[in-house]
Amino acid sequence: MKKYRIGVDIGGTNVKIALVDFDGKIIYSNTVPTRAEMGYEAGVNNIKQAIKELMSETGESAKTIEAIGFGLPGQIDYKEGIVKNLPNIPGWVNIPLAKIIEDEFSIPTRLDNDVRCAALGELNFGAGKGCENLICITVGTGIGSGIVLNGKLVRGATNAAGEIGHIKMDMTGGPLCGCGDYGCFEAYASGPAIVTMAKEYISGGKSAKYKEMATDGIITPYIVAQAALQGDAVSIQIFKQMGKIIGTGLASVVNLLNPEKIIIGGGVADAGSILLDPIKATLLDRAMPIQGNAVQVVPAQLANTAGVIGASLLINS
Ligand SMILES: [Zn+2]
Repeated sequence: MKKYRIGVDIGGTNVKIALVDFDGKIIYSNTVPTRAEMGYEAGVNNIKQAIKELMSETGESAKTIEAIGFGLPGQIDYKEGIVKNLPNIPGWVNIPLAKIIEDEFSIPTRLDNDVRCAALGELNFGAGKGCENLICITVGTGIGSGIVLNGKLVRGATNAAGEIGHIKMDMTGGPLCGCGDYGCFEAYASGPAIVTMAKEYISGGKSAKYKEMATDGIITPYIVAQAALQGDAVSIQIFKQMGKIIGTGLASVVNLLNPEKIIIGGGVADAGSILLDPIKATLLDRAMPIQGNAVQVVPAQLANTAGVIGASLLINS
């Protein structure tokens, strides 16, 4: 009888592999290096090996494992099970990964974008339990999102829906964005934007705790978040400003989609209420009243397990 699924979360550095039961509980997990520099074949062989280990160490097989799901950081052809392109893992271009894995293990395999997998995880077993309409946002190097409407993941015509980070915030220009356009939301409010702001404060002569905390003078969003949590006034100011920008971007999304919940995850969200409170205040101020009053802004609950748990659910999504 089928009682488990396998979730695989591929990142630029590591691959997480987990055996997940039907209640979203992780029974077994393992992490192996992605080895992006060795090309996709070495990477895929590593993952195959790790799945074999998972099976031999847990004693489970195709008899008890219903499906394998992969969350990947980039463009995925969900219908065909093909990895189209992963910006941070060069060489993984047009890889028929679902077929490769199915041929090896005879277990149905699905692939999708990692942020979308995180949204599925939070929807079923985390902060979004019981929701019909939610947006799960990850604020890290960029800003990504997984959107659930009427209980279903929104994928779009070419499986590329959810690029909240590229909502235009500026009519005439603004900072250059990774997508090639200018004035996108994530160019103002993401990890790199926090670092830029933090450096500007220091060069403007302000004393800030993150400056002392930075090893070798390297300021990271994590350090600024830690300084904010320790009460550093400049760091708190930076997160207030970030929250205001994120809240402004989200006001348009809330007006458009009328979600009941926005779930915020990713490294920058570690700042907790220092970031969430200004987002909430800005939404109340700037979204239309009916939509703005209906939406709750909450932190993600599954942390770094959302990806594997969500990937394990792809077969039914
Ligand atoms: Zn952009």
